[in-house]
Order: sequence, then structure tokens, then C-alpha cells
Amino acid sequence: MKVLVINSGSSSLKYQLLDVDTRVLIGKGLVERIGLEGSKLTHTKDGEKTIIEKPMPSHIEAVEYVFDALTDENHGLVKSIDEVDAIGHRIVHGGENKESQVIDNELKEDIKKWTKFAPLHNPAGLLGVEACEKIVPGKPNVAVFDTAFFSSMPAKNYMYALPYEYYQEDGIRRYGFHGTSHNYVTRHTAELMGVDQKDLNIITIHLGNGSSIAATENGVCINTTLGLTPLEGLVMGTRSGDIDPAIVTFLMDNKGYTTSQMDDILNKKSGVLGISGLSSDFRDLEDAADEGNERAKLALDMFVQRARKYVGAYMIELGRVDAISFAGGIGENSDIMRQRILDNLEGFGIEIDDSKNNGLRGKDALISTEGSKTKVYVVPTNEELMIALETVEVLQK
Ligand code: ADP
Repeated sequence: MKVLVINSGSSSLKYQLLDVDTRVLIGKGLVERIGLEGSKLTHTKDGEKTIIEKPMPSHIEAVEYVFDALTDENHGLVKSIDEVDAIGHRIVHGGENKESQVIDNELKEDIKKWTKFAPLHNPAGLLGVEACEKIVPGKPNVAVFDTAFFSSMPAKNYMYALPYEYYQEDGIRRYGFHGTSHNYVTRHTAELMGVDQKDLNIITIHLGNGSSIAATENGVCINTTLGLTPLEGLVMGTRSGDIDPAIVTFLMDNKGYTTSQMDDILNKKSGVLGISGLSSDFRDLEDAADEGNERAKLALDMFVQRARKYVGAYMIELGRVDAISFAGGIGENSDIMRQRILDNLEGFGIEIDDSKNNGLRGKDALISTEGSKTKVYVVPTNEELMIALETVEVLQK
């Protein structure tokens, strides 16, 4: 089956056409500046780019030109739209216990309802869905939620210790994010190990601009670091991760910050950028730390320390850890961060083999020593493939 995967942002739209049976990427593209001057579509087939510059006042035109590009005589990926079996949409927030499913009017209302916790992402996702409904009516649209992988978490891990009514009335709880990535990495690690996912206890570490760790027991996710919003947990590129919540009210009282200023500080001015005052990019920070920049060093130390704290917590929670897998831009590319996060854990049965880890970038690999009880892997994430696989699974149900 061929599935078109759409990741729709408020002014951009990424797409990939995948053959799910062979797991091959047939082609992909990106639409930028939807609703703005200078809209353009960059379509890639066999590494060759075609740029289409046309006004795209809304997602409807964007999707129309995507389908034109997919079926174009010269740079198209299929002969006719009929060859595209379904469309899988990345939708960030699925609310409580929402599994991936075929999109109907009721589900669209639900997606709107969860906009309160994903104010930028859910409406943008819906724009992509509605454009597809209009341009290719009758084609099945499936919503794959970023939160779905975490719907199996037990209440003791998703509840916050606040008055219970905030959970009941407002839905305040941990939802988790990056679920599609953790899901793919879990599934693919099981494949690499040749074990059934149902028998696998794994800690998945997704480190990118946003970062999170998830604990999965017998193939089912039981805990993760991101919370009600993608702000909790690890120190991130520009996000604070865990802080004492009293800091928020203290700063608002003492500096007179509004809620939106505070939101901006926590989401865009904190993390390794805030500490280093230099950059949110780990390549810059690793270079600066090598040159002796103390604040870059501190930012990286804090990042490593926080990640180790959660790895330790999840090791205790799982009891037995068969595998730890790294993904995301940092997890896939930074041998130093991988080594530092799992340093000195031989006593716990976790040992990275430097000869396998050093210099390894962007490909599936086992990087632990033969004697390491817990296998350590690098598994480049593939959220689009996961969305395509889930789309087919939902349709076959
Ligand atoms: P996003 O969360 O936006 O999808 P990515 O997963 O692409 O981000 O991760 C982006 C981050 O990966 C960059 O900010 C950069 O810090 C990091 N990164 C990419 N390549 C390297 C590298 N070779 N060494 C260290 N960090 C890297």
C-alpha cells in the first residue's frame, strides 16, 4: 500500500509518499509560506528537486499542488491519485487515551477540543485534513496522534499532585509528546534485536530541539518526561524542562511578567540557550565547550545530568532493561552526548563500546559492548514511516 503522510503546520506542510510494504520512501516535499507572499513547493524525487512557485492563500491550494506534483508527468511519483491508498496525518494532541483512527466529523470535533493544549499544532493539523477532504474526496484520512503512544501510562504516572478536580474538569494531566518517534524507535529496536515487542523492556531517548525519554514495559509505554505540554522533563534547546513551579509565580510577581512573557521565557529563552547565552544547537555548544566556554560546558553538564536522572528513574521503574535506544538529531549524531549520558553505568549492566559509538552518525547500530546486559542502540527515528504503518494498521482493523 502507498500512504501519503502529511505533517501540516500553520504556514507549512511537509509530505512523504511511502510504500508501506517495502518501507521505501517514494518521494517527498515541503510547502512553505502558505497564506503569505512567496509561497513555494519543493518536491523531491530521486534526490532531484523541483520548485513550484505559485500563490497558495490557504492549505487547500497547497494540497492541490501537492497532488499535482505527485501525479506530474515528469517529476510525479504515481501515475494517478488512485495509487495513493490513504493519507496519514500527524496530529499532535489526541487528548486522553486517543488511539490513531480514521478521521470523521466526531474526531475532528475532538481534535478541536484538544486545541486548548496544542494551540498552534492541532488547528494546523486540521487545516491539512480539511484540505485533503476537499481536494481528494473519498480518500481515507487517518489521524496519528503524537500523544497516542502514551495512552497506556498508569494514572500514578500521568497524574499531577494537584487538586483532583483540575484533572476532572480541565484535563490537567501528563499526555506526553514525540509518541510517534518513541513508538517507531521501540518497534524498530525490537526488530533489530529479533524479539517480540511484547517481551521488550526499553528506555527510548529522543534528543532533538525538543527532547524526551520514555519507559516501555513489555512493549507498552508506562512513563515519559514530557507532560501536559512539551515543556516538562529534560533540559532542551530553548525549553527549561523541570523547574520548581514556584519560580514561575516568583518571577511574575517580582519582574511583572505577563503569562505570555513567562511562557516565552520558559519555551524559547531557557534550556541550553538560556544557560549558555550562546546557542541552542549542540554542535555550537560542543565546539564552544571544547574551546573552554564555561557556560556552554555548564549547559551541556546540566543537559547530561537531567537525562541521567530520568534514565536512572526509569531503570528503577522497569527493573529489567533490555535496551536503551537513542534517537533525534542529538541522539543520532552526538557520540559525546550518548557516551556521557550512559557513562559509568557498568555496575548496572550498561556499557557503551567506544569503538562502535565514536563517530557513529545517523544509522541503525548496536553501540554497547558484548558484555553489556542492556543493549544500547542508535535508531534514527522515522516518524513518517511510523505514521504510514499506523495508517495501514488502522485501516486494516
Ligand atoms: P527537532 O526536535 O526540531 O526535530 P532534531 O531532532 O533535528 O530537531 O535535532 C536538532 C538538533 O540536533 C540540533 O539542534 C543540534 O543540536 C543537534 N545535532 C544535529 N547534528 C548534530 C551533531 N553532529 N552533533 C551534535 N548535535 C547535533
